[in-house]
Amino acid sequence: MDCVIFTIRFKLTSKMKYLALFLISLFPFLGIAQTQDITTELYDTYDSYKEESLNKRRIKHSDLAPLLRKIKTNSRFKVSQVGTSIEGKSLSLISLGKGQTSVFLWSQMHGDEPTATQAIFDILNFFDSSDFKQEKKAILDNLTIHFLPMLNPDGAELFQRRNLLGIDINRDALRLQSPEGQTLKRVRDSLDADFGFNLHDQSTYYNANRTEKPATISYLAPAYNYEKDINEVRGNAMKIIVFMNNILQQYAPGQVGRYNDDFEPRAFGDNIQKWGTSTILIESGGYPNDTEKQEIRKLNYVSILSAIYTIAKGNYKGIPISEYEKIPENDRKLFDLKLIGAQYKLLGNDYKIDLGINQLEVDYEGHNSFWYSSRVVDQGDLSTYYGYETLDASDFKIKPAKLYPKVLYTLEDAKDLNFSEVLRKGYGYIRMVKIPSTILNSPLPFHIIGKAYEIPELRLQPGSNPTFFLEKEGVLAYAIINGFLIDLKQGEPTIPNAMIYK
Ligand SMILES: [Zn+2]
Repeated sequence: MDCVIFTIRFKLTSKMKYLALFLISLFPFLGIAQTQDITTELYDTYDSYKEESLNKRRIKHSDLAPLLRKIKTNSRFKVSQVGTSIEGKSLSLISLGKGQTSVFLWSQMHGDEPTATQAIFDILNFFDSSDFKQEKKAILDNLTIHFLPMLNPDGAELFQRRNLLGIDINRDALRLQSPEGQTLKRVRDSLDADFGFNLHDQSTYYNANRTEKPATISYLAPAYNYEKDINEVRGNAMKIIVFMNNILQQYAPGQVGRYNDDFEPRAFGDNIQKWGTSTILIESGGYPNDTEKQEIRKLNYVSILSAIYTIAKGNYKGIPISEYEKIPENDRKLFDLKLIGAQYKLLGNDYKIDLGINQLEVDYEGHNSFWYSSRVVDQGDLSTYYGYETLDASDFKIKPAKLYPKVLYTLEDAKDLNFSEVLRKGYGYIRMVKIPSTILNSPLPFHIIGKAYEIPELRLQPGSNPTFFLEKEGVLAYAIINGFLIDLKQGEPTIPNAMIYK
């Protein structure tokens, strides 16, 4: 549209020409500025729309069922069952709007990637409210929006990536063996959507290339061929991504990454782009101190709704595609905890090592909650890596954790212990005669060991549980128990859990 100005046939003075060119150059950003008003308001009012019943990552099909039942009775929305999972769980498509342009959003084709599913229900609450009247009118007059939340409910039940067949649905776009993949293909084809939002979660250990910032959100406009050509379909996806990146920079500066765009012929994103839908892959990663990813969910809500609004207004069109390449690439160089340069004694010799530690989740039965079993994941020179939490340990010696000299009978007996004092004396293990059979991990800030368990000699290796102390000038300053850093100068030590070794 902006090019029309060039064909105007009256004579412009050179000053006028420069002014016209200047105004044209502003055009894409004027669109962004307009939409930014709604973005700020969306961010500030988010709590009124948040679907509180979905406030943990381990959500199931049964958590969505009551919400879908309610939406079905609401005349604003049209709900239709469009398929079933292998286990027979319903896959639902929720549609609204009466516009020409069709936008299709699907989430959680990987069962353990629920962040956008939650955001979709927040967005549905937004559309059900009586606020933002003008903006919603603009959206619903111009767009028809379709949501397919939780494409892999069987995987969600087990909080696992793959479906019940054990395959990755995102590698089934060609062979179409999974009913979930078949459903996605059928719905995409029937809608022939103009825009597609392919909504995922990525590991929290991704960072924006060569920075310590986590890739809180990563984007990709997937390639549709090995040459990575950019046609109008893919170009439009890139423009929307540039638009969303500009929004996120306000709330999570430097925390956006761009995925590698190597063509993957089996993946849905790549194929849906090829089939003519401008496809935007959104990956929700990590954010400091946001274990349940609720801040990231909010950023999904704000940025996706803003993108929908800008698609409705059409003002993304002038955004330069070249901005897309400027988003830093994704890298995977984060640890939960990074210790720098600690002195480690092995067979009588001293070495200086960095340690990269991850606090890994283990699901409880039923996959509704989890506990931690942490691991050293790398050690050596880790100067090109970063940590959510980092400690310069170069003045500290690594000391093995000792066994508390008194044997406890039950967990009850631990109540009388002064945890700080136990740790300050270098005890990281406590022997217990009757370990309750109901617990899988230690609720104390040290490990519980069974009657006959022998504590192995401290040998730090990738894969080992990080448990040791850091000593400076003969005084223990820090404990690392099950990969959690405890400052011994601080008050009561609290960590989510330690381990049980029977
Ligand atoms: Zn995924």
